[in-house]
Amino acid sequence: MDGGEAWTAFSSPAASKTFKRGEANSRTFNFSAVERATYKNVRQRVQNHLFNKCAGSCAYCRRPVGHYGWAWHIEHVLPKSKHSSLTFSLDNLTVGCVHCNQWKGARIDRHLVGKILPIINPSLPGFTYSAHLTYVQISTDSLSFAKYSHCSPEGAKTYEKLSFEMLERSYAINGMHPPLASLHEKIERAIGVGLSAMEGQGLAELLFELKKSIYKIN
Ligand SMILES: [Zn+2]
Repeated sequence: MDGGEAWTAFSSPAASKTFKRGEANSRTFNFSAVERATYKNVRQRVQNHLFNKCAGSCAYCRRPVGHYGWAWHIEHVLPKSKHSSLTFSLDNLTVGCVHCNQWKGARIDRHLVGKILPIINPSLPGFTYSAHLTYVQISTDSLSFAKYSHCSPEGAKTYEKLSFEMLERSYAINGMHPPLASLHEKIERAIGVGLSAMEGQGLAELLFELKKSIYKIN
């Protein structure tokens, strides 16, 4: 098993997992009930640890995640596709909301060479979010407003590459139209579920396109 396959087996345990390796090649692995229960237990403990460490917010956009916030994933700061030896390194894991997770995967992880991220790296020693980004969120009964400001090159890249403009726009539009806010949340949760299973990648991409079309972001 490579790093990505091992992560899939760990993060969505099943009795058997088949991994495609090229067009005609695939391998199936079987997992006992004890192994599956262990993975589930360890994953829950890792999730709890990261959630508390990040005070229940996304490490990139700082929006609340969890039961009372947005859907989230265990996020690999340095992508497991490029740094498989860090797949299970706790220092390389953080909280990423579905929005940031998906944009980072498409725009950063896919092109990353080496270990220097062009965007903020929340796992660096001494990292301070406010040295890179600040934000204000204001809500009244009828209006919502959110605005990010960047104060470092990495903050500026984070704003651009993780499409924080879409967050600002969705915040304002959702505030004026609660049913849309509810739809937005459902789409994010469905994307989250799709991303956590290999078979759900296509659905997640479709929903991602739907979301972009709603908030008119290219
Ligand atoms: Zn986020």
